[in-house]
Amino acid sequence: MSEDCIFCKIINGEFNTEFVYETENTVVFKDINPKAPIHLLVCPKAHISSLNELEDKALMAELLQTVKDVTKKIGLKSYQTHINTGKEAGQVVFHLHIHILGKEN
Ligand code: AMP
Ligand code: ZN
Repeated sequence: MSEDCIFCKIINGEFNTEFVYETENTVVFKDINPKAPIHLLVCPKAHISSLNELEDKALMAELLQTVKDVTKKIGLKSYQTHINTGKEAGQVVFHLHIHILGKEN
């Protein structure tokens, strides 16, 4: 947990954010400012600031498995995944997250 990280606070339950899906080491919640009809964020529960800092290969696999499982759960067959890494690439929140973008089912 990083004290000044908004996603750590969400994961810690400080804002009562609804989790669309959760695994042992990942959570999924809705993006607050959706850029598509369905816009979810998949995060590791541990504070990892970006993909560049992700060393744990089991967690890498779990994050992608979570993408597959949450999209299956909500019946979203077609979607984009997006990871911004670094300020110049548009990363604003420095807690690793995978965007899932899709149209309504
Ligand atoms: P990125 O540019 O990849 O760092 O994306 C950060 C994303 O986090 C943006 O799409 C924001 O809309 C989203 N976001 C920021 N604050 C919150 C929040 N409190 N709850 C949900 N999503 C958020
Ligand atoms: Zn964090």
